[in-house]
Amino acid sequence: VYQACELNVDTQMNLDEDAVRHLVTVLKSRVGDAIILFNGDGYDYRATITHVAKREAAVQVHEKALPANESPLDIHLFQAVARGDKMDWVIQKAVEMGVQSITPLFTVRTGVKLPEDRLRKKMAHWQKIIISACEQSGRSRLPTLRQAISLNELVQSDICWPHSIILDPHHGQSIMRLPQYTQYNIFVGPEGGFSDEESSMLRQQQCLSVQLGPRILRTETAGLAICSVLQARFGD
Ligand code: SAM
Repeated sequence: VYQACELNVDTQMNLDEDAVRHLVTVLKSRVGDAIILFNGDGYDYRATITHVAKREAAVQVHEKALPANESPLDIHLFQAVARGDKMDWVIQKAVEMGVQSITPLFTVRTGVKLPEDRLRKKMAHWQKIIISACEQSGRSRLPTLRQAISLNELVQSDICWPHSIILDPHHGQSIMRLPQYTQYNIFVGPEGGFSDEESSMLRQQQCLSVQLGPRILRTETAGLAICSVLQARFGD
């Protein structure tokens, strides 16, 4: 259960409103139940529920430990912003698949236009999705939601490019022949794909083109597909 505050061992604390709702409506928790709290600092805080009512709950925190369910593989997903609520779905599944960061990308063919205020609201909404996906999948390390950025700007920034992959339905090496690294940066194109200029710009940055198979996947399927193959081959 996520708590946006400092957590300390050997303390009794009241949980915030969202956490209480999660305990009461989702987990149906009772006094004496063991729970794990997290605040994004990378640790599990093991606790026991000491009080629970409709709108309030308290816990005793008794142990701080490193989570045992983080993958040894660092996957950073650069996902072209998809229409409607598809981006919500991609973010939720990426967290479940153990990624370390998600960067929403604007590309030439991205059909979604988000003025600054709507983008700010979307980012806050996506951050909430990350938190609830962590709660659901038992992750205590919150993946980073990086600031949404255009692909052009990103290429000019100081991102670390080694082991970057551009998912390309038409060319590239098979995912099954990809060498083993400890980190992968994965670029997934929008519904209309990356433009030729964008693909060659990424390839000039040493991005490797990778194909996931003979069928064209929806943008919201492609990132999930590669994450599951990478975790199965090289991660956890
Ligand atoms: N009409 C676009 C095209 O032909 O490139 C289709 C784009 S596809 C719906 C959206 C994105 O998902 C692509 O830009 C690519 O990054 C990824 N993708 C979909 N199927 C793929 C496959 N079989 N192999 C690798 N990447 C794929």
